[in-house]
Amino acid sequence: MFFSPPIDYETPVFRPPSEGESLLIQVTIGCSNNKCTYCDMYRSKKYRVRAISDILLDLKNLADYYRSTGRIPDKIFLCDGDALGAPMEILEETLVHINFLFPEIRRIGIYATAENILRKSEEQLKLLASKKLNIAYLGLESGDENVLHMIVKGNTASEMLEASLKIKNCGFKLSTIAMLGVGGQKYSKQHVLNTAKILGETSPQFFSFLTTFAVPGTPYHKMIERGLISPLTSKELLQEMHDIIELAEFKSNSIIFRANHVSNLYPLGGILPRDKETILKSIKSWIEQTPTGVYPKVPLQM
Ligand code: SF4
Repeated sequence: MFFSPPIDYETPVFRPPSEGESLLIQVTIGCSNNKCTYCDMYRSKKYRVRAISDILLDLKNLADYYRSTGRIPDKIFLCDGDALGAPMEILEETLVHINFLFPEIRRIGIYATAENILRKSEEQLKLLASKKLNIAYLGLESGDENVLHMIVKGNTASEMLEASLKIKNCGFKLSTIAMLGVGGQKYSKQHVLNTAKILGETSPQFFSFLTTFAVPGTPYHKMIERGLISPLTSKELLQEMHDIIELAEFKSNSIIFRANHVSNLYPLGGILPRDKETILKSIKSWIEQTPTGVYPKVPLQM
């Protein structure tokens, strides 16, 4: 049976692939940064924090609806782009109501930026985690300072490191996303070295790759058109993935790794570092099979 929640989302709405079954609640609209040069997700939206009365009304309608269907979701994801940037009182009240209306909820997730994390105190983050907001998705993109600067990510590599360690220390699970090819040819080598370094140092519980595609209309696309960024071929993208995984010295034995986003050339996953050799072997064989000079095609779903 098809379930359609009684809620008027302000579209477009995005969520991580692993939150596909989660109930989505918009706490903020758009992204407070909205400057990353490759991203067009929220360019049509002006950033704002929703009124708490609107959030609570959504929650009440959703709770009534799900009780009537008998199908209670076990995960909730707070949207939009970086809802962790919302003020504490909004987040806290939202979580109190979620816990009251959906006591069965197992976990609540959120997109975060390093900026959001660093602006909240440890006590505040721990309080949020105690109310089941316990997984944060952080777009690291790259561990390299030049690349982060070039893509106007809004935070330095050392801030990314500090924020990642801080949020883990406060009881959140951290899901880190890195972008293959984002530094182009010029920065590929240092992107690999520094991304591997920060991934090892932060050892997030979850880690995934996306492949960089230049979306028409974005500053990143314009930089490619003007010859300021030279994109990587399919073979080079696979090599970056291989080298980052090979070089990362993880401090934990159970990192759940996924590269199964539609943007990736091949679906891949496993537990790191346990499955490192198997994963590297698969990537090596794909590298061998991939002709040189060929660029990946933009997936239909993007
Ligand atoms: S922080 Fe995320 S959502 Fe916001 S502009 Fe950057 S990539 Fe896009």
